Amino acid sequence: MIVMKFGGTSNQDAAAMNNVISIVQSHLSEQPVVVISAIARATNDLEQAARTAAQGNAKDAKGILSILLGRHNTIARQLVTARPAVEELKNAFTQYHLELNQLVDGVAILKELTPRTMDAFCSYGERLSSRIVAAGLQRDGIGAVWIDAREFMITDDNFGRAQPLMDIVTSKLENIVRPLLDQNKVPVTQGFIGVTQSGVYTTMGRESSDYSASIIGAAMNAAKVQIWTDVDGILTADPSMVAETKKVKSMSFEEAFELSYFGAKVLHPGTMLPVIEKKIPVQILNSKRKDGSGTLIDVDASNVQGDAVVVKSIAYKKNLSVITLVPHKRLNQYLFWEQIFSVLNRYGVSTGMVATSEYSISFAIDSKVLVDSLTHELQEFGIVEVFPGKGSICLVGKGMRARTSLMNRLFDALAPANVAMISYGASPMNCTVVIDEDQIPKVLNALHKEFFETIDASDVFEPRG
Ligand code: ASP
Ligand code: MG
Repeated sequence: MIVMKFGGTSNQDAAAMNNVISIVQSHLSEQPVVVISAIARATNDLEQAARTAAQGNAKDAKGILSILLGRHNTIARQLVTARPAVEELKNAFTQYHLELNQLVDGVAILKELTPRTMDAFCSYGERLSSRIVAAGLQRDGIGAVWIDAREFMITDDNFGRAQPLMDIVTSKLENIVRPLLDQNKVPVTQGFIGVTQSGVYTTMGRESSDYSASIIGAAMNAAKVQIWTDVDGILTADPSMVAETKKVKSMSFEEAFELSYFGAKVLHPGTMLPVIEKKIPVQILNSKRKDGSGTLIDVDASNVQGDAVVVKSIAYKKNLSVITLVPHKRLNQYLFWEQIFSVLNRYGVSTGMVATSEYSISFAIDSKVLVDSLTHELQEFGIVEVFPGKGSICLVGKGMRARTSLMNRLFDALAPANVAMISYGASPMNCTVVIDEDQIPKVLNALHKEFFETIDASDVFEPRG
């Protein structure tokens, strides 16, 4: 079997959904499980409705929801016309709308919005979109079966960033989804959402439908996981920032993991984890260019490594803050680090970037998690300085290992920048620098020019279609 995940722009309207249906149709012999994201912008709208309700403004919140439900009804009407399918969809949507409005009333009265309630709101996006796709497949005579992810995607109760309980998920998938495949049915389910053991909806974090797909793929030992999106594959850089990007034909699991962790938006950072262990290949494909070959992430892919290729792709992150800490006392170094990391851990803050000298430590964190109470707690251990307005640029590629010219080329491109941190060596295929956020476009383009624009490596890169 394979897993086919379709992102929000692949489902944004009836034409896009018909395209999804035809793509699924052409893979029926591979026994697909179809994982659907919410339609483009739906999750933002649901979040917005929830926040509006929390301000006590039930009317506007309901207005946002009416428009959202209207968008789904329009797509549904354009896609399926035969009864009883139309009636079924209409009834399901009316029920969802009713429930959402009840949520709005509750939140507006309490003026309180917990992560748990936010997840309840957001869970509707994927449920709505996946129902339409399932009905569209059925319209074309395909034995699609809509499955609520709550039947199998059991998670912990970390609302907003829930993690799957893999043993339970695996056995539920075997009991519920596998028999459908054996009957040549096509299960259609939702990405992003899960449910606690006591049946409360959770989400695994924004953009996590990719992660859902790889969880299902790993649990069911899929032959591959396909991520259908709106770009040709993994590119050498973000095409909205750099003009001359190329597509990377293939890369290793580790390279893809580093890239997604350090900001490449094409894949959710959790995606690689479930599949790495089982070595299940992941393909990134463009739903608007069905014949493209996309990017293949696979074990063997790591062997494809043109001699000239040092870096395979460059990712960046914005909105970071660098925190520097100098201890009050020259304590045992390990104790100092332990204290710092235990505070970060308590706040659920992760940092991909740490630099140390003997007595001080600096790290970069997402500015969104930078709260006064965190810096206050850190002050107990040392003098804290916070430098906001930073961003990181991360070069990824196995070819970086033991390349003596790497640093010269890197520092040339970095010359105009104000470098706050640099991390190299911990991973043989990653080099990350933290600079001022507003210098990112310039440095990114300079690095891209240096490492990609004159390179001739058609076994690794391909022009974009
Ligand atoms: N619909 C969710 C979001 O927009 C999950 C996803 O699209 O992957 O964040
Ligand atoms: Mg996505």
